[in-house]
Amino acid sequence: MEHNIWRADFPQITEKEEIYLDSAASSLKPLSVIAAIQHYYHDLSANVHRGVYKESYEATMLYEEAREKIAAFIHADIKETIFTRGATASLNLVANSYGLTHLQAGDEIITSELEHHSSVLPWLNVAKKTGAKLVYIPLDKDGRITVEAFQTVLTSKTKVVALTYVSNVMGYLTPIAEIIRLAHKANAIVVVDAAQAVQHLRLDVKALDCDFLAFSGHKMLGPTGIGILYGKEALLEAMEPMEFGGDMNDNVDKFAAEWKDLPYKFEAGTMPIAEVIGLGAAVDYWNANSMSDMEDHVKRLRLYTITQLKKMPDLVIYNPTADTGIISFNIVGVHSHDASTFFAEKNVCLRAGHHCAQLLIKWLGIEACLRASFYFYNTYADCDRFVDSVKEAVRFFRKMGF
Ligand code: PMP
Repeated sequence: MEHNIWRADFPQITEKEEIYLDSAASSLKPLSVIAAIQHYYHDLSANVHRGVYKESYEATMLYEEAREKIAAFIHADIKETIFTRGATASLNLVANSYGLTHLQAGDEIITSELEHHSSVLPWLNVAKKTGAKLVYIPLDKDGRITVEAFQTVLTSKTKVVALTYVSNVMGYLTPIAEIIRLAHKANAIVVVDAAQAVQHLRLDVKALDCDFLAFSGHKMLGPTGIGILYGKEALLEAMEPMEFGGDMNDNVDKFAAEWKDLPYKFEAGTMPIAEVIGLGAAVDYWNANSMSDMEDHVKRLRLYTITQLKKMPDLVIYNPTADTGIISFNIVGVHSHDASTFFAEKNVCLRAGHHCAQLLIKWLGIEACLRASFYFYNTYADCDRFVDSVKEAVRFFRKMGF
């Protein structure tokens, strides 16, 4: 019997008959994260930064300790580690606060057709409002971003480069370090969407030298409703908050007010305290386990599965060479939504649709696709059941005349 050292930590799979292959949408949560959230609500439930009674004090300590853990996890300073609602909110904050004030007609924003909507739509809005122009890196024949292609669009007009680190559909790794180096030589800033990277790679924002980097808690074992915006201190200092309210201000007068220092000026109102504490517990989980062992396991599972899928003539696989645990595919002649209903009935959890990446779906020349995303708590038995269910699905749809 195959032994997976992490699986027992995830009650969502050990207590069910399901094959969970949708971790790129949201990862499962370990017991320690659930316990941290439970502790906050059960024992504390108090607001942070406001009370001196013991529950409020402990909540504040846990909240700020979580920030320290997350900052250390990505090698950032705590001033540069801002809590947001998620990657989407982080990317919007950069686009609205930095983009709308720094860009003007004639400037260019480089992005790509690989982007999740959260990485491209905030800049589309900035372009619309400022007159700046969006420029797309031509993808190579497999749909990858290459340094060479990036160089063909980088000019003295480039002011912002907004790119995904790992594609949520293709599972490709962007050569982001070299892109950042080249962008800086051209005096452009780089905004990295790390929503699909932080759960697969040890990130080091200082080594990368990125200007901004965004991710969500819920894809990296943490809760929903919480994410991080990393930004270089000097850039964040020069930016205006987008939300105003309690806890982000110092002195307030009738016609003027001062904002708190970083990171608090970007955290208005009561923040999602339980979620922050839960994210801190997720980082503890990462620190207690070897990410490279987990990633090796994910890659082996993917290879094992794709080797079998490639033998099936009824399938089209869009990313045979992915760098992370994603397989995007279709059954020839079957809409992915019909197929996903079949898989749901078999207790195989996949995602179907355009995956909030319509530019890529159009680039692929399709309407939608299925995505199976493997993670370290999956097993070879999961892969076998998935492959069997794909074979069954093909038989079923062919019998139905598809
Ligand atoms: N970027 C990428 C690459 C993603 O996969 C996602 C989530 N699917 C996001 C951004 C947005 O994350 P969230 O919905 O958690 O804000």
